Amino acid sequence: MSKSTQQFDLVLVGAGMVGSLFVLKLLQSPLAKDLRIAVIEGQQSVAPTGDYALRVSSLSLASEVLIESVGCGDVLQSQRHCRFTDMKVWDADGTGSVHFRAKEAGESHLGSLYENDSIQAVLSQALWQQPQITAFCPDRLARAERLLQGWSIQTQSGEVLETPLLIAADGALSRTRELAGIQCKQWDYQQQGLVATIRTELPHANTAWQRFLSSGPLAFLPLDNPHYCSIVWTLPSAQAQLMLNSAEEDFNAALALAFEYKLGAVEVIGKRAAFPLVARHAEHYVLPGLALIGDAAHSIHPLAGQGVNLGLLDAAALANRLVQGLAKGLTLHDDFNLRRYSRDRRGHNELFMHSMTGMEWLFASDIPALRMARNQGMHWFNRSGPIKQLVMGAALGK
Ligand SMILES: Cc1cc2nc3c(=O)[nH]c(=O)nc-3n(C[C@H](O)[C@H](O)[C@H](O)COP(=O)(O)OP(=O)(O)OC[C@H]3O[C@@H](n4cnc5c(N)ncnc54)[C@H](O)[C@@H]3O)c2cc1C
Repeated sequence: MSKSTQQFDLVLVGAGMVGSLFVLKLLQSPLAKDLRIAVIEGQQSVAPTGDYALRVSSLSLASEVLIESVGCGDVLQSQRHCRFTDMKVWDADGTGSVHFRAKEAGESHLGSLYENDSIQAVLSQALWQQPQITAFCPDRLARAERLLQGWSIQTQSGEVLETPLLIAADGALSRTRELAGIQCKQWDYQQQGLVATIRTELPHANTAWQRFLSSGPLAFLPLDNPHYCSIVWTLPSAQAQLMLNSAEEDFNAALALAFEYKLGAVEVIGKRAAFPLVARHAEHYVLPGLALIGDAAHSIHPLAGQGVNLGLLDAAALANRLVQGLAKGLTLHDDFNLRRYSRDRRGHNELFMHSMTGMEWLFASDIPALRMARNQGMHWFNRSGPIKQLVMGAALGK
């Protein structure tokens, strides 16, 4: 027997870091206190264990402020993390390098490294406590059909929901985006991001390190223990698979060499994993009664570590627009208001995506003239006070 249809003012699909922050931000407004919100999420969040998790995120200062603004700042800071004060970027040719320092930007730090599970657990805990929420978790979106006004949704467990506003925060392979018929521009880098936790002989000095090799960037991201880093090693897909399956001693030797022994000998701890690197940008962020946020709208190369940060900015921008709309007496799903959200975010995200693709191409290039220009450029940039500060400001989310 089919279940009866449940009506909601808003349905969110995907309560990852971005989806969770969106709802928390929206519910901060007294204007949203009577909303009936359904949240469909495929997985129950797991709190971090003793071992470091493989997926980490470098939260920008702007993201930390956002998380603090929804009342989760103290709990987040009580999770293990590393505030990094410096960032060193250099070229495999060895002649160009840039050193970013927090104090040059007048900040205490440039960003903080957290395990994704920690951020997720903190936001999920706050989310499920909200009285306006009906949780469908663990459950998944199976079907979405456009109605004359809004959407009819069915979950895998057979629940049927109707809403005038559907928000997709269900990640890079968004089922919601697919069911709504929104196409994506896609760039397959033919690379994978190999991630692992490593122990280093020398302390990381609260510095995020990134070496650009012709095969792709290699990042050492500092963890709370001064001798532990999380790595993201971008490699052509076949090479990534070889490194993934190589013996530990061989992996350690190849990694230390690729990193020019900047932190001495290295030793991998536990598992390694590799993720295919595909950039995607949805052709529309909004349709009538529908909005995409986070990786559902865009996924970018991890070389700048900005994916979550851009998504959290989308979440805040959409929540702000919806609240502003309510304050003006508009409906939550007002078409014009949703399009404003798209205008707020699309250009910013696109600029970031193209910069990342351009950087990837520039650093992968073996063309002698480009290599020379790149090294000269890095030298010049490192000494260019105001321009360097401007770029740092953008990365900090200022
Ligand atoms: C190798 C690598 C390293 C990275 N490093 C960084 C970094 O250092 N810093 C950074 O900012 N970003 C980084 N990123 C990017 C970052 O991980 C993503 O941008 C971020 O996870 C996106 O968050 P999200 O909430 O939009 O999506 P997701 O994290 O993908 O969350 C989507 C949620 O939706 C749920 N879901 C999916 N489908 C359904 C469905 N049908 N029904 C119900 N629920 C569903 C999932 O269970 C999940 O909880 C990295 C990415 C890669 C690949």
